[in-house]
Amino acid sequence: MSTDIDSLLRSPKAYLLARKAIEAMEAHRVWPTALNFELWMHFVAAKDSVVAAKINTLIQSGVPFTDQVGEQIAAEFLPGAKLSGEILDAGKSLSEELDSVSRAIESARETSEAYGQQLATATESLAEQDSDAVRAMVENLTVATRKVREENQALESQLADTTDELGRLREHLEQVRRDAMTDALTSLANRKAFDECLERTVGQAQQKDEPLTLAVVDIDHFKNFNDTWGHQTGDQVIRYVASVIGRMAEGARFAARYGGEEFAVVFPGEKASVALAAMEAAREEISSRILKRRSTNEDLGAITISVGIAEVKAGDLPASLLERADGALYASKRSGRNRSSLADLGSEPRAA
Ligand code: GH3
Ligand code: MG
Ligand code: MG
Repeated sequence: MSTDIDSLLRSPKAYLLARKAIEAMEAHRVWPTALNFELWMHFVAAKDSVVAAKINTLIQSGVPFTDQVGEQIAAEFLPGAKLSGEILDAGKSLSEELDSVSRAIESARETSEAYGQQLATATESLAEQDSDAVRAMVENLTVATRKVREENQALESQLADTTDELGRLREHLEQVRRDAMTDALTSLANRKAFDECLERTVGQAQQKDEPLTLAVVDIDHFKNFNDTWGHQTGDQVIRYVASVIGRMAEGARFAARYGGEEFAVVFPGEKASVALAAMEAAREEISSRILKRRSTNEDLGAITISVGIAEVKAGDLPASLLERADGALYASKRSGRNRSSLADLGSEPRAA
C-alpha cells in the first residue's frame, strides 16, 4: 500500500472507508478475502490510483472480479502485498511435505534393516540342519541375503543423501520465511510479523486473563527532517530509532517497524505503567542524542518520538487495542510531541 493510503488507514476515516470498501465489494459481488479487501480499500480511498482505475475499467467492462482477477491486479500494482503471504503459505506446505517425505524415508530404512535381520536369523537356524538339500538352500539363501544387504546399503546411502538434501532445503526455506517477516532497513520484525504477533498475544492475554500492553511510536516532524537532510540520512535515523527500540524490547517484548517512520512494541504480560517507563527511557535516550551525519560528521541536531500506549481490556481485539494506542499517540502529537501518552487515562497526556 502507498504511504498515503497507509496514513488514511490509520486515521479516523479508516472505518468509514472500510465500510465503503465492503459495500462496494458486495455491490460488485466480490468475495471479501484479505487481498480483495486491500484492493478495494485502494479503490475507495484513492479514486485516482492506478488500482482504482484498473478496477473501474473492469466494472465498466462487466468482467467478473474473480480471485484470479484480484490476484493479477495485486501482482501488477501491489507487488509487495501478496508476496510475503505467498512465501509463507508455500513455505508451510513445503515444510509439511518435507516432513512426510522424511518420515517415509525413515520408515523404509527401518523396514529394510528388519528384513535383513530376519534373513540372517533364518539362515543361522537352517544351517544347523544336517542335510545336503538344506545346505544347498542355505547357500542360496546366503547369497540372496548378501545381495539384499548390499542393495539395502546402497539404498540407505542414497536415502541419507536425499535426507541431507531435504535438510538443506528446509534450512533455506526457514531463511526465506524469516526474511518475509523481517524489515529489510532496520532488521526489526515487519508489519506482517507484528500483525501475527499481536493477534496471537492478545488472544493469549484474553484467555489467560494476563496483562498485555501495546506501544505505538512515530518519529516527530520527520518530513521536515527528510526535506532538510535527505531521504538517505532519514533512513539512517529510522535505523537508529529502531536500534534503541529493539534494544529496549529484548526478551519477551516484540518490536516491529509498523510503517515508514512508525514502530510498535508488544509487551506481553506487562502492565501499561511498566511499558510506559520503558518507552519513556527509550524516548529520552533518543531525544538526548545529537545525531551526526556519518559521511561529513555534520551536526543534524536531535530527533524526537511520540508514543501512544494502551493496555488490553476485557473484550479487546487487536484492532481495538491498536485503535486506543493510536488515539494516545495522536494525543501525544497534539499536545506538543516528544512525549508518551496512556490511553484511557482521561485527556491529559503524560508530559515530557
Ligand atoms: P508528525 O510529527 O506529525 O509525525 O510529522 P511527520 O512529518 O513525521 O508526519 P508524516 O506521517 O506526515 O510524515 C512521515 C514522513 O516520513 C513522510 C515520509 O517522508 C517519511 N518517511 C516514511 N517512510 C520513510 C522511509 O522509509 N525513509 C525515509 N527517509 N523517510 C520516510
Ligand atoms: Mg507517521
Ligand atoms: Mg511522524
